[in-house]
Order: sequence, then structure tokens, then C-alpha cells
Amino acid sequence: LGRKLNAALSSLNRAPVVDEKVLDALLKEVCAALLESDVNVKLVAQLRQKVKTKVKAIFESSGDKTKEANRKNVIQKAIYDELVSLVDPGVEPYKPKKGHPNVIMAVGLQGNGKTTTCTKLAVHYQKRGFKSCIVCADTFRAGAFDQTRQSATKAKVAYFGSYTETDPVAIAAQGVSKFKKEKFDVIIVDTSGRHKQESELFQEMVQIGEAVQPDMTVLILDASIGQAAEAQSRAFKESANFGAIIVTKMDGHARGGGAISAVAATQTPIIFLGTGEHLTDLDRFSPQPFISKLLGLGDVQGLMEHMQDLATQNPDRQKEMAKKLEEGKLSIRDWREQIQNVMNLYVTSPKPLDALPKPNCILSGPISKIASMIPGLPQDLLQGSDEEGASRMKRMIYITDSMTSTELDSDGSLFMEFAKDGKPTALTWRVTRVARGSGTSVREVEELLCQYRMMANMAKQAGGKNGWLQTMQKMQ
Ligand code: GDP
Ligand code: MG
Repeated sequence: LGRKLNAALSSLNRAPVVDEKVLDALLKEVCAALLESDVNVKLVAQLRQKVKTKVKAIFESSGDKTKEANRKNVIQKAIYDELVSLVDPGVEPYKPKKGHPNVIMAVGLQGNGKTTTCTKLAVHYQKRGFKSCIVCADTFRAGAFDQTRQSATKAKVAYFGSYTETDPVAIAAQGVSKFKKEKFDVIIVDTSGRHKQESELFQEMVQIGEAVQPDMTVLILDASIGQAAEAQSRAFKESANFGAIIVTKMDGHARGGGAISAVAATQTPIIFLGTGEHLTDLDRFSPQPFISKLLGLGDVQGLMEHMQDLATQNPDRQKEMAKKLEEGKLSIRDWREQIQNVMNLYVTSPKPLDALPKPNCILSGPISKIASMIPGLPQDLLQGSDEEGASRMKRMIYITDSMTSTELDSDGSLFMEFAKDGKPTALTWRVTRVARGSGTSVREVEELLCQYRMMANMAKQAGGKNGWLQTMQKMQ
């Protein structure tokens, strides 16, 4: 969808004159892209009408004086605003509060990703200082409790469930009251989503809801169900009045339009998007960045959030690192940790980074932008595309993997010997050993050492002026 909308808008940029014909042609393309990604026909027709009316009114009121460039902006903004309003019902979702047990109940049909998302949510809140846990109230599906047990164990969050109890309402009530007593902050109740027994399913939702009195009920919706999203979300809204939606499997070939229709049909906000099978594949949703990304305008806010996550996960370590760096005491091991940090950001969130198009974006390139905010990683290390940057970083990690402990803790001088004229030359046996061990070449190892030295020298010269400590503090 994003690519099509983006293409439609760039054709607008190429049009020499902007008149009603251009507007109609553009709207046709935008609407076709929306329909193709399963946005409801009625919604698309409404959007088209609203944009047209808005743009015409502005054109008429300003007459022919409006410059072409300005007219293009008017059109672009009208489309942007209407798209934003499609995914923004203007309702604030529930936000968990500290010092109070927040009960979140997940509902949705089987296979939509409830159990996976419950664990992701628990991890998300846990990272932000909420003591989180999961109650498995799915007694319908064989192996449901095992699945919860496995993923919760992997995620290191507490869980509750039973192999013998067959009443989901009883389990939900027991689990929630147990965790409330144990002073958990976020208690997530996972329910069954059995197929084809709808009236019983909905009855079960209502009963569990009455038993656990959730602060927020979340509908877990699979992005790939397309047009069916509207009917499904309406049905759940009636029985299990949910207050938020999480759309899963946004990483697949899913045409996210169904999600847009679900928001419109139920006037309920989306809070997160599931973007993969891993525990960290959960992206916070907010309307403006979502649409910006769709239109190829970049997602700076999302990027900052990832940075913030990194800093909040380990602020002391990052500050220590910045200090070492500024004092010229960053070891190869520290430097490697920084490379790893950038890698982690990239690997856990390839989607938002990929979605950042270079020309329109205020960032020169997402990886190098992140790199520039991390101590000890000079930007020029990461020129080229994100893929090139990522593969270069991977090779750097391989190389350092083959260094001994002493070498890692050194400032690299172990690798060097000095010629009579005082110029450093690489000490070949260590370099050769590392190159062999890492499956790289002597040249690559020398390059890495050279980059590390350059970085260390630059940092020493810059002395505290690189502002990294300040950046860190601002982000907390
Ligand atoms: P439930 O029946 O609603 O509890 O669904 P599950 O949590 O068991 O998930 C069903 C399948 O969807 C599993 O194979 C998950 O790994 C997969 N899944 C869930 N969320 C996502 C997602 O965001 N992206 C992808 N690619 N797969 C997902
Ligand atoms: Mg499940």
C-alpha cells in the first residue's frame, strides 16, 4: 500500500499544472491503492469525496493566485489528514497506571495471535517497569497452557494456568486474584478464540469479563483477514466491548486495510502492531506516524522510541560508555558492544527502518543516524545502504569474536608494532590469527583496527563536546 500511495504522490510532484483533472487522477490512484489493500469501499468513497470538497474549497477561496507548489501541498495535506482520520477515532486508549493492578483481557478468534501478543505485551510493560504476568484462560485448545508456559518462560514473565481445570472463567478469576495479591502491575488474561462456536465463544468472553473486570479489553486482529475485519470486529464489539485493537502479522503480505476498516467500524483505536513472531516484534501505533510512513514521509518518532528503549534499558552503562569514550578509554570490547547495540536496533526492527525513505526524510540514513547517537561509532563507518551497513557491522562482530580476552580489553596497541621511524605497523601474527579465526581477511582486520583507532583519536580530541551525554540525558 505504502509504495502505491508513494508513487501516486510522486506523480503529483511531476505534474506541471495542478488542476481538477490532476486531482481526480491522483484520487483515483490513491483510492485504487486503498481498495486493493482491503479498505472498505464505503470508507474509500467517503475519503475521495472529503478530499475533493476540501481541496476545491481552498482552491476557490484563494483563486488562481495559488502557486502550483502550494496547490500540491494543499492536496497532499488533505489526503494525509483524511487518511489519519481513518485510523484515528479520537478516543484515548487505556494506559496502565503504576501502583494498581491493571487487568488487560485479550480477545479474538483462534490463530489471530492472541497468545503471542499477550507475551509481547507483558515484555513491553515489563521493560517499562510494570511487574507483568499472563493468565491462560484458554481451556479449549489442546496445548494452550503449554504454549503460554513456554513463551512466558522464554520472556521471563510470570504465568498462571491449569492442565486439569476445564472452566475458563474459574481459571481467569483464580489467576487474576492470585496475581493481584502478589501485587503485579499488569495482569494479562489470554482467552480462547475457538472457531465456529460463536455464540458460546461470545458467552465465554462475557463471563470471563464479568469475573475479572478488565481495565482494558483488547481485540487481537489478524491483518491478513482483509475485508472480514469489519464484520469480525463489529461482532466482538457487541459482546466483548473492547477498548483497543492490536493488529498482528503486519510483517506478512497482509494488506493492512482491514485494520483501517475495523477502526472505522468500531471507533476504537489501534494501540500496537504485531510485526513478527519474536517477542520484541511489537510496534507502538499512532495515527500520524503510521500514515506518514504509508505515504513515504518517514517515521522519526518511531526511530526515537527505539533509541529511547535502548537508553532506558541500560542508561548507566550508556553513560559510563560515553564517559570512557570522552576520556579516550574505550576498549575494543566496549566498542564492540556499541556495534552490537546498533545491530540489535536494526535486527529487531528492520521494518520501520526500511520504511524510512532517504530523499524525503530529514535523516540522511536511519542506520547512520542511530550510529551517530551511539558512542564510538563514527558515521562514515556506515555509509551506503542499510543492508551494506548491517552486513559490515556483522563482519566487525565476527572479527572481534575471534579476539582473545586480553585483546578485547586492550586499546588495540597489542596489535601494533612500531617501525624505526615511529610509524605503527600491524603485528602480523595476531592479525593473521584473528583473520583466520573469523573467516575474514588480514586487510579487513587491519581496517577494523584502523577504524577503532580513528574513532578513539577522534573521541579524545572531541573531548566531551560530542554531546552524547547530553543527548542521553534528554532522552530520559
Ligand atoms: P491465538 O490462537 O490467537 O492465541 O494465536 P497464536 O498466538 O497462537 O498465534 C498464531 C500464529 O501466528 C503463531 O504461529 C504465531 O507465531 C503467529 N503470529 C502471531 N503474531 C504474529 C505477527 O505479528 N507476525 C507473524 N508473522 N506471525 C505472528
Ligand atoms: Mg492462543
